[in-house]
Amino acid sequence: MRYYVLDRGDQLSVDLSEQFHKIASQRGFQLDAESPEIVISIGGDGTMLQAFHTFVDHIPDIAFVGVHTGHLGFYADWKADELPQLIELMSASTTGSLKPRIVQYPLLELEIQRKSGKTTYIALNEFTLKGVDGTVVAQVDINDQTFEMFRGDGICISTPSGSTAYNKSLGGAMVHPTIEALQIAEIASINNRVFRTMGSPLLLPKHHHCDIYSRKDQRLLLTIDHVNIQVDDLISVRCLVAKEKVSFARYRPFPFWNRVREAFLG
Ligand code: NAD
Repeated sequence: MRYYVLDRGDQLSVDLSEQFHKIASQRGFQLDAESPEIVISIGGDGTMLQAFHTFVDHIPDIAFVGVHTGHLGFYADWKADELPQLIELMSASTTGSLKPRIVQYPLLELEIQRKSGKTTYIALNEFTLKGVDGTVVAQVDINDQTFEMFRGDGICISTPSGSTAYNKSLGGAMVHPTIEALQIAEIASINNRVFRTMGSPLLLPKHHHCDIYSRKDQRLLLTIDHVNIQVDDLISVRCLVAKEKVSFARYRPFPFWNRVREAFLG
């Protein structure tokens, strides 16, 4: 099995990472930073976001596994002391005696059009657009029809698995990842006679898209998961459900709603 490990860098995560390499080499796993089949993230959700973006160009060929060294993460469901058990199960999967369940989650595709050109990105959790100097003025179109003129702190577009992250803090709905959709949630919109927004989060199905047009000269902060890009020449951002999905290898079941309950209700 070709694998790669990415850890958060704190002592516990680094120690676990070393422990993983040691047992993995005894089991005949090959460390492969170029084209791993399995990527193990050791740390928290932020570490998984980092792992995802490190291998974003190889997403269809990789299955991710998360080990958490802090509190339970949405993408990291193995505890530190369960690492030997995880390696045991991974090892069994190489001999064919156990097959992990591969669960696939939808992703968000972004086409960011600036005066300087167009760039495409993929988000695992969400994309947010915020003002650097004050409120954002933006027009939101859905399927090429003008939908609303937004003024406020910003807009968040999330994936189903990202719906439990920033989107949740904005009053968005939690969406089961079998539903292929993107969610638009407002960040503190101003509503008056000029600027009118729907006010409630919207779910767009696959094959729909929304475009956000910058409607004044403004410096904007574009955030894709944990990655920030500051721009002063934004024309628009197109958001749609990506064609590819991210895969997670589940060596034991941990249903989404159990994850939600354990993370938020204890
Ligand atoms: P971070 O370490 O501050 O993470 C913030 C929190 O978000 C952590 O507790 C993490 O466990 C949690 N989280 C991440 N993905 C999640 C998910 N899919 N479901 C439930 N919880 C999740 O920051 P970071 O490591 O840079 O992570 C970036 C993420 O932080 C962003 O993708 C965004 O979702 C989240 N965030 C949340 C808020 C907010 O809720 N007000 C604000 C900014 C960023």
